[in-house]
Amino acid sequence: MANPKVAIKYKKIFINNEFIDSKSGKTFTSISPVNESVVAEIAEGDKADVDAAVRAAKAAFEYGSEWRNLQPAQRAILLNKLGDLVDRDAEQIASIQTLENGKVYAQSFGEVKIAANVFRYYAGWCDKVHGETLPTDNGQLVITRKEPIGVVGQIVPWNAPILLLALKWAPALAVGCTIVLKPAEQSSLCTLHITALTKEAGFPKGVINVVLGYGPTVGAAVSEHPDIVKVTFTGSTEVGKKIMIASGKSNLKRVTLELGGKSPLVICDDVNVDEAVNIAHEAIFSNSGQICVAASRTYVHSKIYDEFVKKSKELALKRKLGDPFDSTVAQGPQVDKKIFNRVMNYIKIGKESGAKLETGGERFGTVGYYIKPTVFSNVTDDMVIAKEEIFGPVQQILKYENFDDVIKRANNTTYGLGAGIITNDINKALKFSQAIESGSVWVNQYAALTPSAPFGGYKQSGIGRELGPDALENYLQTKTISIKLTPPA
Ligand code: ADP
Repeated sequence: MANPKVAIKYKKIFINNEFIDSKSGKTFTSISPVNESVVAEIAEGDKADVDAAVRAAKAAFEYGSEWRNLQPAQRAILLNKLGDLVDRDAEQIASIQTLENGKVYAQSFGEVKIAANVFRYYAGWCDKVHGETLPTDNGQLVITRKEPIGVVGQIVPWNAPILLLALKWAPALAVGCTIVLKPAEQSSLCTLHITALTKEAGFPKGVINVVLGYGPTVGAAVSEHPDIVKVTFTGSTEVGKKIMIASGKSNLKRVTLELGGKSPLVICDDVNVDEAVNIAHEAIFSNSGQICVAASRTYVHSKIYDEFVKKSKELALKRKLGDPFDSTVAQGPQVDKKIFNRVMNYIKIGKESGAKLETGGERFGTVGYYIKPTVFSNVTDDMVIAKEEIFGPVQQILKYENFDDVIKRANNTTYGLGAGIITNDINKALKFSQAIESGSVWVNQYAALTPSAPFGGYKQSGIGRELGPDALENYLQTKTISIKLTPPA
């Protein structure tokens, strides 16, 4: 599927089921990283638009509103319908995403399909969330209710915009919250297409609202808003900290954060080296390295280290770069110029720090923000490229001798989002899985996600979990009702 004609129908803010201009009338320009062409002029919101969206969401959440009066099974019908519509429009949504963020089309398409299943997974939860009847020692009846928390703010990034939106929208809608979403400015248009589908599915007005624009304006207004009671955020640790501060300063919003990582992948000496090289390669280079769980520290046993480095270099050299709509291409561009420059700077730091540049390290082509797959060997734990999140196609290969020691080294980070081990030794796999300080661990595979499995970070990689039953709790609060029982006269 090369260079499809992408039809972009929606470019405006969505409030009360209507697409509208921003109050200021301002717009911003979306530039495709694929070829630096202008994709669209998009309505640029600010605080006034967030205020309007929150008013709509608050009205939709009022006791007795159409949305609050829906039975759980009716919410399930809407979520299933949305899943079906996302499936129906998967090609369109995926094409817009690829144009906006440069993700290889097949991966964009796969992401949209998973998103559809996330809606279906949470449709199944709508009528299965319930409170309890509790034993008491003083003759009262105590029951708890699990109630939707209210108007929630959701802030998402551009690297997997449709999936990350689905795993925020679906549990919030399943339990009956209303939403103000701020997508990343680099993925506004694919977000708006799926937004239009919520209206088609039949969600009442005000339940889902989307304000487009920049982080320091729209994002900050969401995290500071006194009528938003909960904020869920996926993005950098730096911005996550700002959101916590804003939430604390405003109204003590409940906060769920899914942040950065510097995830270790440990390769033991008992493996098939070719297979391990393949897994490690995809684990870092997928989506041009722009994945929060990217395995950006590859720890390889000294016995197979040289062979592993040689084969990793060969594989990186073979990786085909170019137009992400070309089905033979494995890697598209970085999302924008700023991120491109940041990655190139890390490559420079890596070279200066004494790591060995095996391959890559430079721009590919002259148009679009492409970076050649880059492999560094002889990386040590103290180097900046082994400590900081690069968010680009840059593999760091480190050497280890001792299994217990590599677990300690893998844990020696402020992050804790993902981790992986490749081994045929069940004892090593289990020991590592238990000892590693990270929210997800993958054994003999990497970055596999499924709607039923909770996902989130240890340490500064986040607070709380998304996906699975855990995510429902993000959008619920418990009410205790105590009833005095009067003995019969
Ligand atoms: P990335 O580096 O992946 O772009 P960011 O954390 O910068 O991650 O951005 C993730 C999301 O957070 C985007 O939607 C962005 O616009 C938003 N954002 C950026 N700065 C702020 C801020 N100060 N307050 C709230 N949201 C923000």
